[in-house]
This record gives sequence, structure tokens and C-alpha cells, in this order.
Amino acid sequence: MLQRFWGLLLATGGCLAGVEAADVRISKPEPDQVVRSHQLVLSGHAVAEDGPNMVSISRKLSSAANSTEIAQAMLDGNGDWTATVPLVPGTQLLVVTLAGATDQILVTRAGDAIGRQPPQKVRLQWVNGTDEKQQVDRQIRLVAERTLDPPPAEPQLSAFVDDVKGRVRQLFVERFQGVANLVVVDQDGPDVHTVNFLATDDGLFGQSPFDCGSVSRNEATEVHVGTYRRSMSNLGQWKPMQRGDLPSVRAEDLARCLARTAAHEVGHSLGLVGDPAVPAWKCLWMRGCEEGHNCFSITDTFDIADRFDDGWYLMDSGPRTTNRARLGEEFESRRSLVRRAPVFNTFNRSYLQIVHP
Ligand SMILES: [Zn+2]
Repeated sequence: MLQRFWGLLLATGGCLAGVEAADVRISKPEPDQVVRSHQLVLSGHAVAEDGPNMVSISRKLSSAANSTEIAQAMLDGNGDWTATVPLVPGTQLLVVTLAGATDQILVTRAGDAIGRQPPQKVRLQWVNGTDEKQQVDRQIRLVAERTLDPPPAEPQLSAFVDDVKGRVRQLFVERFQGVANLVVVDQDGPDVHTVNFLATDDGLFGQSPFDCGSVSRNEATEVHVGTYRRSMSNLGQWKPMQRGDLPSVRAEDLARCLARTAAHEVGHSLGLVGDPAVPAWKCLWMRGCEEGHNCFSITDTFDIADRFDDGWYLMDSGPRTTNRARLGEEFESRRSLVRRAPVFNTFNRSYLQIVHP
């Protein structure tokens, strides 16, 4: 009788607030994790009114693909279930069902070559060549001089340069805190990655070698401060920046941008994000696109994927990153009370936890 009652409600589009005929939830692991093992322990909770006491777990290789049942699990007296399921290489959707209720989760089995690496030491180097055009300090000063009204005078300009550099270091450390075991150092060495902040103005905000699995320690990344200086001279593209901003606000603006680019480029050198269109880079199982970035179109394959966010995820591509995300500002129309930090997405973080725990 109860079954028929539920059926009637569902058939007529009826709904009882807070009560469902059946419910199934996956509680572990967290969504969109990268794992090394070839099988995964999946667990959760389920309830069904007079229904079956066994959940079915199936795999799909895309949201639209047919599903293949890979395991079943009995509910215990509390409605909890646990199953060990085999994983195929790459990303797969695991779907748990019970009496018409479903929950699903993305899981990615990493390539077998991925493993734990020593902590990555990183040196932030501000490069001042002998030629004025090669002086990164001058580029930083020009941002203040050309985007502020009134332009700051000495010694404010020197303080501006120091503020930007100090803040970049802090923000860079914050981006990796709790994400990957990176250690910022002051001296070069065979196991030190150097981030060179250059005066370069070439249309690129930065570049870095791609290193699947983060197997090389002694690489170099570039951040092109001259490109930022030129771009910011077109202030209308950098709202909510305004000419009347205080120098301290502009220092924070520039520091946010430079730290973001440094973290993004170092991310490439740690192995983010493998791209099937560039087989030579390996790590193709990461399914990046646009030359090694979080793929905006991953939702075409897996509709629940949360890997791209217009630049609020650090490994989103440059052309798809808004200047607001670079500044950490939520709105173009006004300053936020507290700036928002861009982050590595869950998928990127769980990879980094494997290589640099
Ligand atoms: Zn990039």
C-alpha cells in the first residue's frame, strides 16, 4: 500500500517536503579526486521505504555513455554501505543507485608513473638588467606612475616597489598553503625552482615548462611584469581599478596579479594540466585543453565536473581569465570589502597532494 502511495505521488509530480521514497548518498571520497590505486573504496548512506537493501554501483565514461555495473553493496542496519570498486585509467563517473534514487561522483585514476616527489623549493627573483628596459623595478614603478592620479613621487615610488615584492611573496606562499609542499627559499640550488620576474613586455603574462609528475626540481618560470604594465595602462579594462586609487591599493592590485601568474606558472611546472592535444607533455589523463589548462568544456563530457571558473581557478587559461579574477575583485563597479583569492580546483589539489604531499 505504501509503495503504491509513493508511486502515485511521483507519477503526478507530487512532492513531500523533506521526505523521499528512496535516497542514496556517496560520502567518501570527496568529489573529483585523483587517485593512484586501481581500486577505490566508496562508501555512503542510503534509505528506501520497503525497498531493496542493496545499492548498485556502475561506471560511465561520460555523462551520456551507457553505464556498466561494477559492484553491489548491502546496506547495514544503519543504512550505511561500503564497496570496493575497480577503476579504469582516467576520469570516470561512478553512479550509485537504489530504487530509482542515484548519486554520482567523478574519480580519476592517475597514470601509473605519478608518485610522491621531494618538497619543491622555489626562489622568487626580481630581475634588474643593466639596460633600463630590462629593469623589472622600473616596470613596477611605471604601473604606479601611469595608473594613479596624482602619480606618487619619491620616496613613495620606492616604497611601492618594495610593497609589491613583499606582498607577492606572501600571496604566492598563501596560494600553495595546504595544497602542496612548496618551500620559498632565497638561494639558488640544484633542487630549486626559480621564478624570474622580468621587465618583458611581449603580450604574455608568463610562461613555464610543463613537467608531468613534477619530476624535475631545477626549472625556471617567467612572469612578465612589462606585459602587465602595458595592459594596465588601458585602465578601462581593469575595473574596479581607478586613477584615484591610493598607492597602497594599486600595490595590492599588482601584487595579486603577479602572485597569481607566478602560482599558475609554477603549477605548470608541477604538472598541471595535461592536455590530450599535446601528447608530448604526458599526463593526458588530466583532460586539460587550450595548451595545458583547466578545460572549460569538460562539462560536455562530464556534466557534474567543476574544474573551470573564469580564472577563479588558478589553472584556468589566460585568455579565459577575467582581470577581476586576477585582481581578486568580485565586481567591476566597486571594490570588495575583502578580496577573493583564486584557488587550485579540487582535481588539481588532489593531484598536488600526490606529488608534493
Ligand atoms: Zn598557463
